[in-house]
Amino acid sequence: MRYTRLFGKTVKEAQNELFQESYSLLFKGGFARPLGQGLYCYLPMGMKVLRNIKRIISEEMEYLGGAEIQAPLVNPADLWEESSRLEIMGNSLIRFKDIRNAEMVLAPTHEEAVVSLVKQSLHSYRDFPIFLFQFQTKFRNEYRTRGGMIRTREFEMNDAYSFHRSYSDLNNFFPQVFAAYERIFQRCDVPYITAESEVGVMQGSRAYEFLTEDPQGKDTVVLCRNCGYRAREEVALAVKKNNAGALKPLEKVETGNLKTMAKISRHLDLPLERLGKCMVYSCPSGLVMAVVRADYDVSREKLMRYLGEPWLNSASKEELDRIGLVPGFMSPVNPPGQIAIVIDDTVVNSSNLAIASNDVGFYYLNANFGRDFDSFHVTDISRIKAGDLCLSCGSELEEIHALELGNLFKLDDYFTQKRIFSFRTKRGGSAIRSWGLTASGWEDSLSRS
Ligand SMILES: [Zn+2]
Repeated sequence: MRYTRLFGKTVKEAQNELFQESYSLLFKGGFARPLGQGLYCYLPMGMKVLRNIKRIISEEMEYLGGAEIQAPLVNPADLWEESSRLEIMGNSLIRFKDIRNAEMVLAPTHEEAVVSLVKQSLHSYRDFPIFLFQFQTKFRNEYRTRGGMIRTREFEMNDAYSFHRSYSDLNNFFPQVFAAYERIFQRCDVPYITAESEVGVMQGSRAYEFLTEDPQGKDTVVLCRNCGYRAREEVALAVKKNNAGALKPLEKVETGNLKTMAKISRHLDLPLERLGKCMVYSCPSGLVMAVVRADYDVSREKLMRYLGEPWLNSASKEELDRIGLVPGFMSPVNPPGQIAIVIDDTVVNSSNLAIASNDVGFYYLNANFGRDFDSFHVTDISRIKAGDLCLSCGSELEEIHALELGNLFKLDDYFTQKRIFSFRTKRGGSAIRSWGLTASGWEDSLSRS
C-alpha cells in the first residue's frame, strides 16, 4: 500500500499528557491512538507489530507442544465462586447480570474457564500432559492507569495453562516454559530481567516474573549485584541488621496525638529501626496483628503464606472497634481481645524498642519480646529493602524499579481441587492434577520493543 493511502500517519508532536517515552514514540509513529482512560485503538501499523509479536509467541508455545484455544471474555460467576476468587478478587473483578439475571464476570484471567474446559474434555492419564494457550482481551478495573500503553485497563494477553499427571511432571515442565518466555523477549528485542515474585490472588506455590528495568516502573526488585539473586521486595529473603543490647526497664511516655511513625520517631528522637510498628489485617480466619520494626513494611505476601490464608485486607475501623483497638496506638503489649499476633524476626532480635501501648496518646520505651510481649508466631514478615544483606553471599542488596512484562505461576492443584477434578490413573485409581500457568502482557512488549 502507498504511504499516502495509509490510515494513521506519523506526527511530529505527541500530546502533552503522554509522558511515557515508549507511548509517545508509538503515538508519533502512527501505531496507536487513545480512546479513553487506559483504552487504546491500534492503527494498521500497530496491528502489523502485534501480529508479529503474536507469531513469535505462538511459535514458542507450539514448540513446547502447546495448542491454541480461546475461552470467552465473559464467564459465569459460579465458576469464580467455586474457586473462591469472587471473594479474593473483590472489587477488581467486573461483575454484571445478563438478560436472564444470571451473575457474570469479565474474566481478568482464565484459570477457571480452562480448568472447566479440560474437565469436560479429558478423563484418562493417557491424555496428559497438555499445554493450552490463548490470546484474549482482558479488562482490569483499575482506578489509575499509567498514562501510556503499559498497564492499560483493556489489553490483549497471551496466557497459557498446563495440566500434568503428577507434581514431578509439572516441576520438569516449569523450566521449559520459563525458557520459552525468555526466548520470546529475546526475539522481540525487549531487555528483561527475571525475579521471584508474589503469588498474590493467583494462589499456588511459586511465581516468577519477567520485568524490564525502568526508573519510572512501579515495581521494585531487590537484587544482589555480586551473586545475581533477584526477587520482588514482597518475597525477597535477606539477612536483616539487628540492634541487640542489655534490656532496659519499660517506661511509658506521652506522645499526644502523633500517629505516623516518622512523627513519633522525631518526637522520641529515635531512628525508625528503634521503633516497632503494628498493622492489623482481616483474613478468612479473623483478625491478625503483624508487628515489624518501623524501618520495614509488612509483606502481606509473606504474612499470607505464613498463615496459609488466600487473602488479607487491612482491618476496617469497625473491625478494630469491635475488639477495642485504636488505629495509631495498636500494640502487642497487653492487646485487648482475642487476636493472633505474628511478630517479625527483627522485632524479636532487637532490644529496647519504642512501641505503642493500646493507650491513646502513650508509647512504651524499651519494650522487649519475651518480657513485655510474646507470641508463638515469630517469622520473617518484613519487606526486604536496599541495604539488607544477601542471604547467599552477604553483599549489600540494591533496589531497582522495573515494569512487569509477564508472569509464570506454579499453581499446584489449587484450581483442579476446587473443581473436584480427577482422572483415571494407570493403576485404575483417580488423582487430582497439578498444573502450572504462564501469562505474558504482550501489549507491554510492543511498548518496549
Ligand atoms: Zn548475593
